[in-house]
Amino acid sequence: MIISQNKKTIFLILLAFAFSFLVRLIWVYQFSDMDGFKFHNEFMINTNDGYYWAEGARDILAGHHQDNDLSPIDTAAANLTAIIVKFLPFSFETVIFYMSAFFSSLVVIPIILIGRSIKSIEVGFIAALLSSIAWSYYNRTMVGYYDTDMLNIIFPTLLLWSLIWAIRTNEDKYLLFTALEIISYRWWYPQSYSLEFSFFSLILIYTIYLGVKEKSFNIQHLKFNIALLSFMMFAMMGLHGWIRFIIVVSLFIVYKYKKEIFTNYLYYILGLSILLFFITGGFDPIWGQLKGYVFKDTVSVSKDLLSLHFFTVMQTIREAGKIPFETFANRISGHTIIFIFSIIGYVWLSIKHRVMLLGLPMVGLGFLAYVGGLRFTIYAVPVLALAVAFLIVQLSNLIKNNYIKYALMSFLTILVLAPNIKHIINYKVPTVFTKNEVVVLDKLKKIASREDYVVSWWDYGYPIRYYSDVKTLSDGGKHSGSVNFPTSFALTHPQLQSAKLLRLDVEYTQKRFNIKEHNKELDKNDTKYIKWHSSNIGQMTLDYGYQDTNNFLTALQTNIKLPAKTRDIYLYLPNRMMNIFPTVDLFSNIDLMTGMKYNRPLFYISHRFKDDGKNIDLGNHIKILKTKGMVQLGNKKVRINHFAVTYYNRKGKLEKKVQTIDPNSPINIIYMKNYHQFLVLDNRLYNSTYIQLFVLEDYDKELFKPVILTPLAKVYKLKI
Ligand code: MN
Repeated sequence: MIISQNKKTIFLILLAFAFSFLVRLIWVYQFSDMDGFKFHNEFMINTNDGYYWAEGARDILAGHHQDNDLSPIDTAAANLTAIIVKFLPFSFETVIFYMSAFFSSLVVIPIILIGRSIKSIEVGFIAALLSSIAWSYYNRTMVGYYDTDMLNIIFPTLLLWSLIWAIRTNEDKYLLFTALEIISYRWWYPQSYSLEFSFFSLILIYTIYLGVKEKSFNIQHLKFNIALLSFMMFAMMGLHGWIRFIIVVSLFIVYKYKKEIFTNYLYYILGLSILLFFITGGFDPIWGQLKGYVFKDTVSVSKDLLSLHFFTVMQTIREAGKIPFETFANRISGHTIIFIFSIIGYVWLSIKHRVMLLGLPMVGLGFLAYVGGLRFTIYAVPVLALAVAFLIVQLSNLIKNNYIKYALMSFLTILVLAPNIKHIINYKVPTVFTKNEVVVLDKLKKIASREDYVVSWWDYGYPIRYYSDVKTLSDGGKHSGSVNFPTSFALTHPQLQSAKLLRLDVEYTQKRFNIKEHNKELDKNDTKYIKWHSSNIGQMTLDYGYQDTNNFLTALQTNIKLPAKTRDIYLYLPNRMMNIFPTVDLFSNIDLMTGMKYNRPLFYISHRFKDDGKNIDLGNHIKILKTKGMVQLGNKKVRINHFAVTYYNRKGKLEKKVQTIDPNSPINIIYMKNYHQFLVLDNRLYNSTYIQLFVLEDYDKELFKPVILTPLAKVYKLKI
């Protein structure tokens, strides 16, 4: 029986797609009984940023959202989600949970097609199996990983496929495919310009090489490449997607039906496209990124009138750090040995099929992970999977006997898949929030209005906005040092200062939105522009008549006049913030005037402790000497100031016993019985709003009112 090449391709695509999707159901199977990962009986997502797109999709479907609520209703991810929910018979929660598994599995299509273009569909099939479930690709596209990653690799791989075909066949249609892929890729992921630009540069180098080096060059081939460059440039201009779409399609019609215009004015058209690319600002993001790499700093100086020094979030994010070689190799290929074979395979593949050198931008971007952070590794996955698949097929082809040949091919394929599947089985990622935390936010949704602010650390911004349908001060995309400062200050300082700064920061944030809206055309050097693009805290300092922010912060303890209250403010205090509390503190434990960081506070959490009757060993050479009322830190023995014990009674209400042993001592102990944990902390953090309100529920009745109190999260309403 002879199966046509097309039928075979479709069959292998379906097979690889099913494989990719089914492997992603391992997580679902593993956690099917995990009630804490479900809300309203549906699995919740496991990526924080996903709640951002979910908020946008929710608002698109609802048909409304609030001014300046930062809901991403114009983004591709939110719109695609809304369309799917609207037209398919699945619930919103099902769609956002499974969307990544479905779309990311489509990567098998371009990969199998690329295999076919180098005349080996086996290479494409093996590569499709591997890349669809390769370590880092899986991590960023598993079920519940609802983020742009689900299509971020597919678009460049499609682009690679159409460029390969364009160069090989010089067929007209690939000009259009390439341009449309660039436009859709940019629509989906606006940061795509760096990869597009690298592809463009590679084609440009190839075209110059054709024109200069090759003596017996084919003029038609050269002209096609110049046309390809022009189409790419038009697709990459700094104009709205629809405008680029219309330009590219019209151009293609001209190319198709009036080719002589194109051939006569080829260089003018290319020149025009390059000119328009620069004029419309197509190059600006690339230039901006280059500048960003050159000027990196840990403390950022704001451009406001006081030149305040803020702590930057970059140094607290793990992703931005350097990674060891083994992690890097694992994430791309599943194992160091597979990775090394992939590199060998890629060299061989590029020699046999020079057109595969077009994969270099993706490999290069993937390798950037080695210095630039591990999230880049996924870009190298498809090309290196093709490379190792090529090696497997070449080795197997050395065998003449067909049965043994395919047995060897299958065996080697299983060998490269195995470490990746093993990783998937062990990669038991939890959902962002657990059910009981979401119950709190869902309840808050019924209490707070959409214009109210719920303040918390930026990590919780997106989920808060999604579940409670409110506004937030900070989130996964808005967390610069100046944005984080007031929130950090409010959480780590006493209630009076905290409450006042919360009111000020919310009102200033709103006022800033309004003023920005009315002064859209202001020049960047205009003092009014600088005023409203400077930090809230800097602006408050000046408005209250101070030149030194420290004096303003001290003045918060006095009777200063607060701005008029325009809305309610809620403080969301989750238990999970306990572990990052020292990090939260970093952002305000700094002298904004000089950038000098103050001493780190004492804050120690112990989950493993041993009580021998006389002493409680908290680990890390910290001991509570019960009979003496002292705490031993290494060799140092210090009297305890407050010793507090908290527990929940039968009604679920917090009870506490606070004993003051030595009011002059700097160290406090809190035993949180139901949490099985001890806290050892200095006076500043003991008196902080987070510890007082969350741990001790010791709130100032003039300033705060408890709204929801549960062991996992507590919400207070600001009374001023
Ligand atoms: Mn809203």
